[in-house]
Amino acid sequence: MPSDLLTVGLYASTTRELRHIVNIHNYDYCCRPSIVPTSEGTHMLAALLTPAQYRTLLPKVSKIDIFAKGIPDDRKSVATIAKGDRFKGGQLFPRGLGSRKEGEQFDLGKMMNVDEIGSAIKGLQKEYGIWTFDLPNKTAEGSVSTGGTTNASTDPRLYHMYFTSGVHARERGGPDQLIYFIGDLLWAQKHGTGLKYGKRSYSNAAVRLALSAGIVFFPLVNPDGVRWDQKTDLLWRKNRNRKNQTPGTDDYHPSIGVDINRNYDFLWNFRLHFDAATASKDGLASDNPSSFQFHGDDRFSEAESRNVAWVLDKFPRTRWYLDIHSAVGKIYYSWGDDDNQSEKPNQNFRNPFLDHKRGTLGDKVYKEWISKDDAKVVKIVAKRVVAGMSSVGGRTYTAAQASSDGATSGASDDYAFSRFQVDRTKNKVYGFTMEFGREGVFYPTLPEFQQNVIDTGAGFMEFCLCAANIGLG
Ligand SMILES: [Zn+2]
Repeated sequence: MPSDLLTVGLYASTTRELRHIVNIHNYDYCCRPSIVPTSEGTHMLAALLTPAQYRTLLPKVSKIDIFAKGIPDDRKSVATIAKGDRFKGGQLFPRGLGSRKEGEQFDLGKMMNVDEIGSAIKGLQKEYGIWTFDLPNKTAEGSVSTGGTTNASTDPRLYHMYFTSGVHARERGGPDQLIYFIGDLLWAQKHGTGLKYGKRSYSNAAVRLALSAGIVFFPLVNPDGVRWDQKTDLLWRKNRNRKNQTPGTDDYHPSIGVDINRNYDFLWNFRLHFDAATASKDGLASDNPSSFQFHGDDRFSEAESRNVAWVLDKFPRTRWYLDIHSAVGKIYYSWGDDDNQSEKPNQNFRNPFLDHKRGTLGDKVYKEWISKDDAKVVKIVAKRVVAGMSSVGGRTYTAAQASSDGATSGASDDYAFSRFQVDRTKNKVYGFTMEFGREGVFYPTLPEFQQNVIDTGAGFMEFCLCAANIGLG
C-alpha cells in the first residue's frame, strides 16, 4: 500500500489567506503549519495532501506547487534506511562528521534502522564508558527504549542538558543526528581535538565546555512508530497504540496510534482550556483517533511521553531541554499555547478562571505569562542555535515563538517549561523544539540527510555552549 500523498507548497499573497485554509481544512500541514515568506513576496505553507484534498484546495489559493507525488525513489526507505547492523551489536561505535579530518571518509551511509540505533548507544557505552539506562515504560508493541549520558558518573544531579528525538516517526534522521553529535563530542574529548561542522569550527576547549554541561540523550522516543514508518514509507507520525483502532480495520488504518507530542500534561484537555475556535483547529490537538494529531485517552496515557517525562524526574537538575523534530527549518521557544506577556502573572495556564479563553493569537483576551528575564533568555538561546545552524554554510534557519505557527496543546516543550510553575520543588527547565530540514521534507535524500547532520551538529553545539554560559542550574 504505497503512499499516494502529494507533498505540496500552497501559495497566497497574504499569510491570512493561508491561516484561513489551516483553520477550516483539517489536513496534514507537516510537523507544524508553518507559513514562510517567499523570495517573490508571497507566502508558502507546506502540506501533505491526498489527491482529493489537493483538488479541494486548488481553487482556494493562488498556486500549488507539487514538490513530490508519493515518495520519490531516492527518498524511499529502500534507498535511505540501512539493513543489518553496522555497529555489530555495540562492538563498533558511531562517530559523526564534526570529528572527521580532511582526507577521512565523509560518507555516513544510510540512516540507522531501529536496531542499529540501539547498537549505536551500546557502542558509545563500550568505547567511552558512559552511563546508559533503560526507560521504565514499555511501548504498546513491547519495545524497551534506551537513553544515555556523556559521562561515566551515575549521579543524576551532574546532568543539565536533555535531548530527545524520534518522536514523530516520519521525521527521519533525528535520532542519527543526535547520536552522531554525542559520538563527535566524546571522540573529540578522548582524542583532544575540536569539531568542525561545515564552515563552523569549535576548539577542544569548546568541546570540554559543552560536555561540562552534562548531557542526557534519548534518541528514539517512538520505536514502534519508526519501525512501522521505515517498513511502509507511509509518512507515519504517531505511535502504534491500537487501543482506539476502529474495529475491523487493518494495520494501515489511521485510527491506530497517538500523537506523542500532544499527550503531555500541559493544557492537555484542549476543549476545556482553549477557546472553541482554537479547539476546532488543526495543529492544536485532536480527540478523533483517526487524526494524525490524536492526543490519546488521557494526559500521559502513552508509554513514550511518560518515558520522556521520567527522565526529567530522574535528572532533577535538568535546566535545558531540546526536542528534535522536522521539517520546518525553525527553532521554537516558549510558549506554545498563546502569545507571551510579562505583565500579568495571574494570566497563566494554571488559572481555571481563564479556561475557554486561550489560544487565539493577537487578541487581548489571553496571553501566557513568562517573566521578563525568562522571555529574554529563551529568545537569546533560540537565536544563537539558529545562528550556529545557519553559519555552517547550508541553509538559513529562523527562531520563532512556538505559538507563532498556531497554538498547541500537550506538547513536550511547554510541559518541560511548565513543571516548575506547577510544583515549586522542581527545577526550572527551558524547553525548545528544533525543526530541522526543508519545509515538508520528512524523508531526506542521503545528501540532504548528511547536510542535516552538519546543520544540527552546529545547532546542538551552540545549544550546549549557550546553556553553559547562561547557567546550568
Ligand atoms: Zn514533529
